[in-house]
Amino acid sequence: MSKAKELNKKLSYKRKNFWKGATQKESDKATNFSEGYKEFLNIAKTERESIDFFAKELKNRRFSDIDSGKKSKKIFRLSRNKNGAIALLGKKPISEGVNLIVSHIDSPRVDLKQNPLYEDSKINLGLMRTHYYGGIKKFQWVSTPLALHGVFIKKNGEKVKVSIGENEDDPVFVIPDLLPHLARKKQYSKKIGDAINAGKLNLLFNSIPFIDEKDEKIKHAVKLNALVLLNEKYGILEEDFLSAELQLVPAGKARDAGMDRSMVLGYGQDDRICAYTSAQAIFDTKNNDKTAIVYLADKEEIGSDGNTGAKSIFIIDFIADLLKYNKEKSDSATLRKTLINSQILSADVNAGINPNYHEVHEAENAVHIGFGVSVTKFTGAGGKGGSNDANAEFNSKIISIFEKENVNWQIGALGKVDEGGGGTIAKFMAEHGAEVIDCGPGVLGMHSLYELTSKADIYSAYKAYNTFFEKA
Ligand code: MN
Ligand code: MN
Repeated sequence: MSKAKELNKKLSYKRKNFWKGATQKESDKATNFSEGYKEFLNIAKTERESIDFFAKELKNRRFSDIDSGKKSKKIFRLSRNKNGAIALLGKKPISEGVNLIVSHIDSPRVDLKQNPLYEDSKINLGLMRTHYYGGIKKFQWVSTPLALHGVFIKKNGEKVKVSIGENEDDPVFVIPDLLPHLARKKQYSKKIGDAINAGKLNLLFNSIPFIDEKDEKIKHAVKLNALVLLNEKYGILEEDFLSAELQLVPAGKARDAGMDRSMVLGYGQDDRICAYTSAQAIFDTKNNDKTAIVYLADKEEIGSDGNTGAKSIFIIDFIADLLKYNKEKSDSATLRKTLINSQILSADVNAGINPNYHEVHEAENAVHIGFGVSVTKFTGAGGKGGSNDANAEFNSKIISIFEKENVNWQIGALGKVDEGGGGTIAKFMAEHGAEVIDCGPGVLGMHSLYELTSKADIYSAYKAYNTFFEKA
């Protein structure tokens, strides 16, 4: 090797392509890992369904509910069917700090309004009014098969779960788009973000009117028929919609993508990819010195507000209860110190470089798909506005552990400076004084109906999170 080559190798940073560097065994592991992940994506398309999934998993793996009083090292708490925390007690006292990984289990989608059902009497169609949730590109949600998920709570308190459109023989729904022939004024003359107004996102629900031979002049017979069908299937009345939570998501399953099957295409990978990988990581954690916690948060896509979002007191309360559970002091000073002593990975997806839009990324600082999990010092917009901006000392510690344990990692910022921006849960967790850094895989087409990830990065995220729990 020439001197220059040698020095270059020794002195320069070069991110590593996972597939190029991995042994056959490691590549196979990455490929196999994504099988369970795809199943999870298919079962858990909403935050409620994610919590249902983890509730089953926790039961199978013999974790104990912290409130059950049972003594165990493996504990959890699920809250309001929408968020939760999983903990694995370590050898050291909790007050010396925990290692926590936070991700979110909500994804951008289109919700039904509280009073959704109406009839377009002129053309005899039953429709549902919608109100979108999170940062969607509205034009992606028209002319595509949608499934309806959610819950009704009936007057007697009974909860009825809804899922229509996921099984092969289920019907699906659609928000009809305008044909190009007639879109000149309504759409083509507008900016792309304004081309489809939120008021035009009404869902086509049904089209056969209720027939009553004795009454030929029924008002809104199509709407009536929709109510009849819903009552037959779920036992609900129209007023049960008023309190319901009903969400439209892309119908269908996550699939392998690419001729080499190296990628996964599916809805809701932001951020269920981190929820799944961090949960698998804690399930496989052995001999952890510090207590490991996986925190599954809701409502990140609308600002982490609400009592199931990361800004709520849930996780602080859980850690306080963990102290008590472990027979440690749990007064507010001890709790504060515990949080300040803690280390947190804010596990959320990052923008992978889109081959069609290189110009919004800065290649040397952006995430390359297939090059492993990314470590992101800061997010935010403009001059790092609204960002956690992790400390160099903590940043270096995490990177060193990943290097030592052969985790395929890379640095990754969201986009070019002043190109736009976005935030994660990191800053809300940092408010409690812990060390926090963003760490998660890259995604192409984030917030679209079909997000794309690399199996290399899914597996690398899992490995990174497991390493963090065992070594950090
Ligand atoms: Mn996210
Ligand atoms: Mn998001």
